[in-house]
Amino acid sequence: MNAPREAFIAPRDVAARMPIGGTIDTVMRELLPWASSFAVVPVSGFAVGAVAFGASGALYAGANLEFAGAPLSASVHAEQAVVANAWLRGEREIQALAVTATPCGHCRQFLNELASADRLAIFSAGRGPSTLAELLPASFGPRDLGVRAGLLEPADHRLAAPVDPDDALALAALGAADAGYAPYTRTYAGIALTDAAGNVVTGRYAECAAYNPSLPALQCALSAMTLRRLDTASITAAVMVEAAGPSSQRTAAAAALQAIAGIPLRYVAASPREDR
Ligand SMILES: [Zn+2]
Repeated sequence: MNAPREAFIAPRDVAARMPIGGTIDTVMRELLPWASSFAVVPVSGFAVGAVAFGASGALYAGANLEFAGAPLSASVHAEQAVVANAWLRGEREIQALAVTATPCGHCRQFLNELASADRLAIFSAGRGPSTLAELLPASFGPRDLGVRAGLLEPADHRLAAPVDPDDALALAALGAADAGYAPYTRTYAGIALTDAAGNVVTGRYAECAAYNPSLPALQCALSAMTLRRLDTASITAAVMVEAAGPSSQRTAAAAALQAIAGIPLRYVAASPREDR
């Protein structure tokens, strides 16, 4: 069956791909080359693809993303990409994940942030089915910090930001910040990017209990661009909306945008609404 152009397969089309008597992991494994085709790997040349199955019945693709001339920390792993893809498309829960290679330690920690972490099935090349709990024993996660929420649960932080109602790009960034996940610092952040063709892509900050596998808003948006097969070097404008707090992505995002597209970052500081 043909590979879809988008990094997403709607539930009815997933059902059509299911062989009689087959299981979803068969379909997911067959789709891994499609997911890998979205990889952009100018540094390593090592393409990784991931396919996620959502509670909605949809399938999502993700792939790794690297930037020549930028720090390795600007990279996005395929597992992060596929989680972000499902999240931006409104998926409420990821039930299973297939990956071309066994998830690295960084990604196991990132996946532990999912609301569904304790029931997430993982299928990786050359291995039988496993669970995240098997891959990440004696884990540290949100519950250890008293956080009950999880990544992919819908949110609306209702941030207040000085954004002109006609400023569509900043409004898109504010919407992304409102839906962000930052239960540890509450520095919810969103970014909106546009390119020469007028495409608008947003990204949300996804924080992690261990801090370092957090997915910055810019990386989330850049990954979303590559999953639409858009060139990140063609970005012409970028706006970040970020809630003030003990952490900030402003300088890292500005430096990365200069390295990737040679453009400045427009930054808008937000705050919680007083009526909360
Ligand atoms: Zn990884």
